[in-house]
Amino acid sequence: MDAKTRVENLPGIGQYYSYKLKRLEIETLEELIYHFPFRYDDFSQIAPIQNLTPGEKVSIQGNVWQIKNIRTRTGKFITTATVADDSGTIEVIWFNQPYLTKNIKAGTPISLSGKVELDGHRFKLMSPQYEIIRTQTAPQDLSTLHTGRLVPVYPETEGVTSKWLRAKIAKFLPEYLKSQKDFMPDNIISHQKLIDLDSALHKIHFPENLQDVSLARKRLGFDELFETQFISAQRKEKWRNKNHAPNMKVEKGKVVEFIKSLPFKLTQAQLRAITEILQDMQKNIPANRLLEGDVGSGKTVVAATAAYISYLNGYETLIAAPTEILVFQHAMTINQLLSPFGIKTGIWTGSKKQKGDITVGTHALLSTFKAEKQIGLVVVDEQHRFGVAQRAKLFTGSPKQETPHLLTMTATPIPRTLTLTLYGDLDLSILDEMPIGRQKISTFVVPNKKRLDAYQFIEKQIMEGRQAFILTPFVEPSETMQSVKAATVEFGKLKNHFSKKVKLGLLHGRLKSKDKEKVIGNFKADKTNILVTTPVVEVGIDIPNATIMMIESAERFGLAQLHQLRGRVGRGEHKSYCLLFSDSQSEMSQKRLKSMEKVHVGFELAEIDLRLRGPGEIFGFRQSGFANLKIADLSDEVLISKAQAEAKKLVENDPNLEKYPLLREKINTFELEYVQPN
Ligand code: ADP
Ligand code: MG
Repeated sequence: MDAKTRVENLPGIGQYYSYKLKRLEIETLEELIYHFPFRYDDFSQIAPIQNLTPGEKVSIQGNVWQIKNIRTRTGKFITTATVADDSGTIEVIWFNQPYLTKNIKAGTPISLSGKVELDGHRFKLMSPQYEIIRTQTAPQDLSTLHTGRLVPVYPETEGVTSKWLRAKIAKFLPEYLKSQKDFMPDNIISHQKLIDLDSALHKIHFPENLQDVSLARKRLGFDELFETQFISAQRKEKWRNKNHAPNMKVEKGKVVEFIKSLPFKLTQAQLRAITEILQDMQKNIPANRLLEGDVGSGKTVVAATAAYISYLNGYETLIAAPTEILVFQHAMTINQLLSPFGIKTGIWTGSKKQKGDITVGTHALLSTFKAEKQIGLVVVDEQHRFGVAQRAKLFTGSPKQETPHLLTMTATPIPRTLTLTLYGDLDLSILDEMPIGRQKISTFVVPNKKRLDAYQFIEKQIMEGRQAFILTPFVEPSETMQSVKAATVEFGKLKNHFSKKVKLGLLHGRLKSKDKEKVIGNFKADKTNILVTTPVVEVGIDIPNATIMMIESAERFGLAQLHQLRGRVGRGEHKSYCLLFSDSQSEMSQKRLKSMEKVHVGFELAEIDLRLRGPGEIFGFRQSGFANLKIADLSDEVLISKAQAEAKKLVENDPNLEKYPLLREKINTFELEYVQPN
């Protein structure tokens, strides 16, 4: 038996349970052992029977004096037992479990956790959890698993209870530990004051006290963070060593001239980001930089400046965006900024193929684009929609063997700790400052009974010349027929809520791109007043005249995503509003959504979601990048930094882990499963 033994081959598990365990992503012994409790029930205080008081939830331990079944007149069974410890005796009652008398015999040492009740003037322990104390076979701290201790509670699935998991983990843990050696280098263990792996795995499942739990969490969390950081650091090192990039000349005068040509003054944050990316581009190590900034923080102009420098050095630039709508918009913006300098902006999508000195495109860039000159710079907008593999593909199709510089941009405000964890191999520039004069968007969580008022409010705004987005509920992360249908149905219903004067347009991802362009064109030209749309608009379009963003089923989005959607309005001079509707009345949902009313900074909203819902929800959907981070506290910046520092040090000294084969093996398996979000 070893770590990779499949659960169906473990004694006492078999096909039936292994099938169920799959739903918990448990297929091997190791995965069973790494299925961690998410909390513990505290039954650790064992009370002397003499001291019990009614109403109390207690654990007692003693011997069974007698036990018997009584049959009531209605044919039901009651089991009564007398249990004694050194201090006294108590009667114990169970209902409808006659088989108990088969398991529990007079003379058995037993542990019970339950509630004490007063019956007449006698105390009784009603329907307690019970467990026969394992006196000989088990180590002392495992003499009970389900009672009389801190009892671990696990993520469960139908047919697999915590009780079952506890028993199996207790059974197989010793053999698993025997098959394992600690893979973490000794000096890291002592430097970071970690406990050894054996103790950590033992304590996480069967702690004697809460301090055990925190020691175990620290060690196991550190392992995960360290593995992630090591992979990142290794990637970064390989990237630096393997690839050569064009080291470009940056003429300061040209940059200043370009910046002066802009119709606005750059923010300090923009200037800083521009400096950082231009510094990268002067090196022959390919840049790999992430530019993070809220919607409207002005990322495009940063990218445009870098593209301009790439052009001046005689290179092509590719800018990739996730949707055709965004491509057209970027192309227009870039063209406005750079055509005065004689630069031609091209477009490369499924439906339109036209090369430029700078070419903006969709996924079509991956498949059909062939560069004529060396590509000097690749910009990827909204990076979490492009997979790592796809990003890598953007570099091919370049005639020379040089690797372009890479700038990825995201409006998803990822909390810093998560950025460190997920994108440890990227350099980071943050636009944490909005251009001056940006307004706050008044946000309201609207109860369903006020829906008609909301429609009236929208109509009033329209009569004043404004426009509105209505975002329909979505069913799937990607545009499916189902969400298209939802939008279409909603569209039909909505028409009835507005007067004839109000014109509505319908936008969804299944429209042909010609039709899409037309719908958006009509909205831009103010020929339609309301754009009913699926969430495709999220990464979309700039309509300064739109002042209302109404969102259905808002609880299904991450707060950061809602913030992005909200950023679609308030782009012009008019006061703007965001109206959130929700299908869920749960307190948690309401609390989350309410925070949109008060908080207007993307990073803060992301932090709130990180605390309330965990990291997987930040982007709205569960991201595979977190699949291996089961126990690490992703808001623990200190531990993350420590793990990063140790990983960096080790990569510098022993990049291929020649001295640490166990760690190498561990990291190789980890890496297989570890995929960055895409
Ligand atoms: P995002 O970061 O969301 O991609 P954009 O680059 O699209 O933001 O910029 C949003 C709008 O703000 C654009 O109309 C752009 O011209 C404008 N903008 C960018 N930087 C500034 C600035 N420093 N001052 C004023 N407006 C700016
Ligand atoms: Mg943008």
